[in-house]
Amino acid sequence: MDAHDEATLGFYNREAEVYAQRPVQEFSPRLEPFLATLKSSAKILELGCGGGRDSAEMLKRGFDVTPTDGSTELAAQASARLGLPVRVMKFAELDAREAYDAVWANACLLHVPFAALPDVLARVHAALKPGGLFYASYKMGEGEGRDSLGRYYNFPSAQMLEDAYRAAAAWAHYDLETGEGGGYDGVPRQWAHVTARKA
Ligand code: SAM
Repeated sequence: MDAHDEATLGFYNREAEVYAQRPVQEFSPRLEPFLATLKSSAKILELGCGGGRDSAEMLKRGFDVTPTDGSTELAAQASARLGLPVRVMKFAELDAREAYDAVWANACLLHVPFAALPDVLARVHAALKPGGLFYASYKMGEGEGRDSLGRYYNFPSAQMLEDAYRAAAAWAHYDLETGEGGGYDGVPRQWAHVTARKA
């Protein structure tokens, strides 16, 4: 099972400059409470960092950040913004072991083909140190589909997400909050914000 969608990464590669430079909030709204729970020396892995806005904020606050993205072009955009190398890494290539205090995955694991999601979540679990924190957000729905821009989404329900997390690993803590949100396609949707902690 492929853990990435070629058409989706193709979209981000083609659209990278426009996507990275669009006017958006300075950083994701959920970043502040996430960072508030971490030590100032925390080592944070960002998955699917896009143009690098959240990594920029984390670096500004002094965290030890590793930004990554599966799109070569978006990684280049982020690298130019951050002034440091951004690793081109697809989610399924994550093979770190107990290396990070936290993993930040804003609006990116929603592009993982649903059947491959438990494997990616297990990789995140393995990459976290004991007690490590993991945040990811998803557009909700009743199952897989594409938006008008051709991007793949797993569009899970709350139950589907919880099942995928539980199938991946024995998390010490799992919490899902929902809220309204937008997207690059301009369609308002219900979002799931999932925070999980490794034992
Ligand atoms: N996290 C950023 C933000 O909040 O602005 C970007 C979100 S954007 C909706 C989704 C990101 O996931 C893009 O940067 C895209 O290149 C990346 N992505 C999609 N599929 C991926 C994969 N299989 N592996 C790694 N990154 C992927």
